[in-house]
Amino acid sequence: MGFVSLGCAKATVDSERILTQLRAEGYGFSQTYTDADVVVVNTCGFIDAAVEESLATIDEALSANGQVIVTGCLGARAEMLKEKFPALLAVTGPQATAEVLSAVHQKVPPVQEPLYHLLPPGGVKLTPRHYAYLKISEGCNHKCSFCIIPTMRGRLASRQPGDVLQEAGQLVEAGVSELLVVSQDTSAYGIDLKKQADLMTGHSLRPEIHSLARALGELGVWVRLHYVYPYPHVDELVSLMTEGLVLPYLDVPFQHASPRILKLMKRPANTEDNLSRIRSWRDRCPELAVRSTFIVGFPGETERDFSELLEFLREAQLDRVGCFVYSPVSGARANELPDPVDPQLAEERLQALMEVQAEVSKDRLGSRVGSQVEVVIDDVEADTAIARSYAESPEVDGIIQVSGAGDLSPGQRLDVRITDFDEHDLLAEALS
Ligand code: SF4
Repeated sequence: MGFVSLGCAKATVDSERILTQLRAEGYGFSQTYTDADVVVVNTCGFIDAAVEESLATIDEALSANGQVIVTGCLGARAEMLKEKFPALLAVTGPQATAEVLSAVHQKVPPVQEPLYHLLPPGGVKLTPRHYAYLKISEGCNHKCSFCIIPTMRGRLASRQPGDVLQEAGQLVEAGVSELLVVSQDTSAYGIDLKKQADLMTGHSLRPEIHSLARALGELGVWVRLHYVYPYPHVDELVSLMTEGLVLPYLDVPFQHASPRILKLMKRPANTEDNLSRIRSWRDRCPELAVRSTFIVGFPGETERDFSELLEFLREAQLDRVGCFVYSPVSGARANELPDPVDPQLAEERLQALMEVQAEVSKDRLGSRVGSQVEVVIDDVEADTAIARSYAESPEVDGIIQVSGAGDLSPGQRLDVRITDFDEHDLLAEALS
């Protein structure tokens, strides 16, 4: 690695962070441009003289080495730099350790040496080896009245597509066969990046969810999307499902069905006709499994609103449903809404909703009896394998108990025939 650090003490600290991380990953440093595989220039953009020095250094590094990543204050003027130096590999602003590392990894991937690298290639995971959560963005631009996440975590900050893909690739290499895409609002991925992606990582992928989901699907593993809001562009994701690139599974947190309550909740996409949207998704992808969550007892929820919600559930025939009684969160604007629902009544509504959904669930699970499906094994208990198909996400949905599969191991896939069901789970027999 070649590294040139210009600018003030804050820039020096940024350089130290990047160098520390690179050193920890096993990169060595070179004193000359010509010996380096790639050069990072941490720039300054404070005064004209500093800008001139930064530009001259970039020019020098490009002429001597050709493989140059620019970071730091002048990097905030990425458009100008890319125009002046089109050969730059990547440009990031200041305090962008992760982005710089990502750009370095793309050019010179870190070498995993088992004798002295303590971290596994996919990082330390709390999930079983065969599936992993992949966070594609942080924060949220919405203002749902019951939620304080935007206050705590800030506005939407999507990761660069190249960065996400690199992590996904490492996970797959480390043995992950199912990627669970998570964020606060997966459908909104990339709207904060606009055209920056090419400038930041040099990756040609457009920073929007459809392109990202396609690229993830092309890794050849199961890709499952969580926290998708029912915007019209979700139709494009359904196309990826019919192509077999993404699992036909959508986790869409509807939270309610009464337009009045959705408006009070200030939910994203609250004017969409969710029922017809679900129908059109299913018309195009009949095997689609839809999961959702709901809140009952939201301030102002009348019997009529609640009936609308129950009617929606009967009509929508969702595959998996979670429901919670509304509870005020300190700092949420919903706390100021009038007409709180009596807690006892809210509990009764929760029970009533779960009874309606139990009937729906019976139909949905019952309709799968006799079908054949590929499952992945999560665990084995005696002679029974605890498995899931495309329609079950780990931890939140039901399971498929496969009898006579006690000799299999977690992560293995097999075809099964569904033989029976209970309230939440399916029973199956192994076919292969
Ligand atoms: S509940 Fe609403 S505000 Fe909170 S994270 Fe989700 S979309 Fe954003």
